[in-house]
Amino acid sequence: MTRTWSTRAYVLPCIGLLVLAPFVLSPFYITLLNGIGLQALVVLGVVVLTGIAGLTSFGQAAFAGLGAYATAALGTGVLTLPAWLAWLSGSPWGGLAVGMLLTSMVALLLGALTLRLSGHYLPLSTIAWGLSLYFLLGTLDSMGGQSGMSGVPAIAVAGLMLDDDRLMYGLIWLCVGLAAWGLRNLLDSRAGRSLRALRGGMVMAEAMGIDTARARMVAFMLAAWLASLSGWLYAHMQRFVNPSPFGLQTGIDYLFMAVLGGAGQVWGALLGTGVIVVLKEWLQGVLPSLLGRSGNFEAIVFGLLMVLMLQRWRDGLWPMLARLAPAARRPQLPAQVIDAAPLARKPMPSRGAVVLEARAITRRFGGLVANDGMELTLRAGEILALVGPNGAGKSTMFNQISGVDTPDAGQVVLRGEQVAGKGARHIARLGLSRSFQHVRLLPRMSVLENVALGAHMRGDAGVLASALRLDRAQEAQLLAEAARQLARVGLAERMYDAAGALSLGQQRTLEIARALASDPCVLLLDEPAAGLRLGEKQALGQLLRQLREEGMAILLVEHDMDFVMGLVDRMVVMDFGQKIAEGLPEEIQRNPKVLEAYLGGVADDE
Ligand code: ADP
Ligand code: MG
Repeated sequence: MTRTWSTRAYVLPCIGLLVLAPFVLSPFYITLLNGIGLQALVVLGVVVLTGIAGLTSFGQAAFAGLGAYATAALGTGVLTLPAWLAWLSGSPWGGLAVGMLLTSMVALLLGALTLRLSGHYLPLSTIAWGLSLYFLLGTLDSMGGQSGMSGVPAIAVAGLMLDDDRLMYGLIWLCVGLAAWGLRNLLDSRAGRSLRALRGGMVMAEAMGIDTARARMVAFMLAAWLASLSGWLYAHMQRFVNPSPFGLQTGIDYLFMAVLGGAGQVWGALLGTGVIVVLKEWLQGVLPSLLGRSGNFEAIVFGLLMVLMLQRWRDGLWPMLARLAPAARRPQLPAQVIDAAPLARKPMPSRGAVVLEARAITRRFGGLVANDGMELTLRAGEILALVGPNGAGKSTMFNQISGVDTPDAGQVVLRGEQVAGKGARHIARLGLSRSFQHVRLLPRMSVLENVALGAHMRGDAGVLASALRLDRAQEAQLLAEAARQLARVGLAERMYDAAGALSLGQQRTLEIARALASDPCVLLLDEPAAGLRLGEKQALGQLLRQLREEGMAILLVEHDMDFVMGLVDRMVVMDFGQKIAEGLPEEIQRNPKVLEAYLGGVADDE
């Protein structure tokens, strides 16, 4: 993450205060802080799910309920496990294990049913899940119905019974601390980038080799586990459970806390939770006496606050606070990255070998034939330009080749394998990488990390290793590769800027660096020179020549004929979805069919 402000100035004193708190604060404040900690755990999950992965869930309170009820039912003897699981009963730790198991099963099922669907399906199904669990708990007489279950045992840690709030405080905030630490590590890693990439769109993420279905499931699972853990802690702190804290309203509150704090920020989760819990407590006391009557006035104030906030501070409180912190020193590449061993490279195909062949590709959109029996062949060590007037079908052709789309007929043979219909991720693994006509990057993520996304397939560190920082050596290698590619395209100076701060031309160049970071042997560039200044164009031409020297096969769509003519080896010209000419640049320039197509189309070409 690009950290331009040194937020340590806040975080370290806060940690210090939290450590001191149990020794100085009265029981009232300890209980308040316990409440903040418990809810912050759930909100940390919402940060991952909503802030990072862009998925909305109203059902996190229900996952907390699952964790709480599982351990309560087991601890009070309402639920007895089958003989082969009997060793888990009798202790709150067994309750934790069973709760996590149940949570995983529900999350897997719910995720499998809904995560593939876009739009409102996930929020709606999490609402349905939240409501049904809430009413189920309320009607199950064995679980005490609406009045709940009491007599939940206390947690014992190494013989110490955590049977008062001060002792639970330690465990709760230890969990919060570990979760925050793990999540920050995760977000700053290969696995974390694959979650963040979801916001850049599935097409881009899959083209980088990221399994987006899996990444969504990971985010959903992490959030469910954190909520369930919070429920477990809650049940053993209260020694009592009933359905009311696990309803839909609470699920909405969690979302609100995450958004208020600054969805997407680990520290924002703690801030948002703290502000809301304290504000609620205060308003509950102050409003009735102010208004002279009792009622849930704080709910009204909260509703208004939410509307106001969504209007004025979309980014939440944490970014505002962070801006007040002392400016951080300009970040530099850590020594570990500079010294990292280069990543292994795949052998390049031998120069002149056919690496990509499109055979009779046809793609229809309704009545429109965007690609009509298109053919092209690309060899290692050559630059082939695909040109043609606007709407000729060039980008469609790119999509058929790169697996974003599936042709209605025809074959795409990449390094000897028929890949049409096999998906972008499979094709990326075979060594094809691309840039997009309309740039697709993560504007808030640093330039360096955006490029590191391209190197995703060259690492393998997973979620757990990243959260525990066991991935550092590999992560350094990935970042070193990203830095190397940035230096190559001339963007090294901008490494720690947010990608969104670059000019459009530089963003295109970033996409080339990102494509190169995957160690491809086939490069597909859709209008790479559009928006570049003359000097940048010359540098790009130089880079492409050098890549060709190294044996790269490059297919590019480009409108700038001056740029293309001096650079490419061969050209394929399209019009109305068909190939109308193919040959050397100087032949194409004189081809009457091409001149005719362009005279009709060149005027509205930009
Ligand atoms: P080019 O990149 O050569 O400018 P495109 O491949 O983007 O052309 O588009 C070719 C034709 O296909 C255009 O008429 C465009 O409107 C149409 N087209 C492209 N994608 C779609 C789509 N997803 N649905 C419907 N029509 C499309
Ligand atoms: Mg196009």
